[in-house]
Amino acid sequence: MLFTHTHMNALASSESAAAPDTIPLSEPRLGGNEWKYVKECLDTGWVSSAGAFVDRFERELAGYVKTSFGVATVNGTSALHTSLLVAGVAPENEVLVSGLTFIAPANAIRYAGAWPVFIDAEPTYWQMDPERVVDFLEHQCKWRAGRLYNRVTERQIKAILPVHILGHPVDIDPIVEVARKYDLAVIEDATESLGAKYKGRMVGSLGDIAAFSFNGNKIITTGGGGMIVTSNEEWAVRARYLTTQAKDDPVEYVHNAIGYNYRLTNLQAAMGCAQLEQLAGFLDSKRRTASGYAATFKDQPGLSTMIEAPWAESSFWLYTILLDGTHGHMDSRALLGGLQAVGIQSRPLWRPLPLNGAFRNCECSPCPVAECLFRDALSLPSSVGLSDENREVVTSAILRILRDAR
Ligand SMILES: *Cc1c(COP(=O)(O)O)cnc(C)c1O
Repeated sequence: MLFTHTHMNALASSESAAAPDTIPLSEPRLGGNEWKYVKECLDTGWVSSAGAFVDRFERELAGYVKTSFGVATVNGTSALHTSLLVAGVAPENEVLVSGLTFIAPANAIRYAGAWPVFIDAEPTYWQMDPERVVDFLEHQCKWRAGRLYNRVTERQIKAILPVHILGHPVDIDPIVEVARKYDLAVIEDATESLGAKYKGRMVGSLGDIAAFSFNGNKIITTGGGGMIVTSNEEWAVRARYLTTQAKDDPVEYVHNAIGYNYRLTNLQAAMGCAQLEQLAGFLDSKRRTASGYAATFKDQPGLSTMIEAPWAESSFWLYTILLDGTHGHMDSRALLGGLQAVGIQSRPLWRPLPLNGAFRNCECSPCPVAECLFRDALSLPSSVGLSDENREVVTSAILRILRDAR
């Protein structure tokens, strides 16, 4: 059984009754001021969409990723949708997006009425391949009267949406460079990579606007929540306007655009402030888990691990390995089954987006690298605070399963 992205924590806990030793993939850690700050909301009555914690969470998160403005949203998907609208993405435009990612960014492109163009992953760090981005824009598009058009569909290309998957940054400089050349917006999906750095710069500050998520399985959580960050003041103002029902007069109910109710509550932001206080420790814990796994799996035949680029500082959101599956080696789904049998949760990467029926009407080119990664990858338990002892339970189970299969 595969666990869905959003529900894996719920499943991990509700099914733990059947398997008391379950080690979940990723569960939230709530050991700081969460209770105190949420209680403060309840005691003062500031429980809804305005309040000091919302302002503080926006200010602190934007400051942490070195951007000027933050706009809190109800989840990461709405942060992506709003970012696309603010960047001027309109119906029948096209947006280049990673082909190997959770589906939310591609759905958000469709919410804006635009079409995704899926870009394959590179095989080393598994992120959006900048060479393919440049190649597509230079050779499959044409520049006419200051706009870039897809030669095949004749649609205008408006933006690039790189997704920093699994905690590791995309090699984004060549992407930003080609975006500048053709006047395209760069929208970062930073939902899985809070705290990661690219050439010393914070993920979320590398393009024109970025989206974060605080779902229960992410690096920090507000239960559910998201944030738009940008250093473009006009865009920040527009994002706040669109996420709060596009009110043009605070009293008289004047609305000159279609807005959305995408606000985060003060209760959720209170959790966010408490989580943010612990982020440095969370990142240390993720890195410790990653190096523990990497040390054990070094030189295992048929198994390779995720690596960190020399220009990157990963936040190691979900530690992921590849199972070769050929020459008599075990494949990823067999290992998943073996781990499940002993109460250890693991999960493959996402089906490449062009293979999903949801995008059957898109002009899709294949993503062969993403298809190999989908076949071979398995993410392992990576919760903040995973003890060395539990990590060793996982690694010795894997080594034993692999040995038994030989
Ligand atoms: C989690 C996630 C999202 C969406 O976040 P929600 O808060 O669940 O809406 C978007 N993109 C990626 C890559 C994600 O992993």
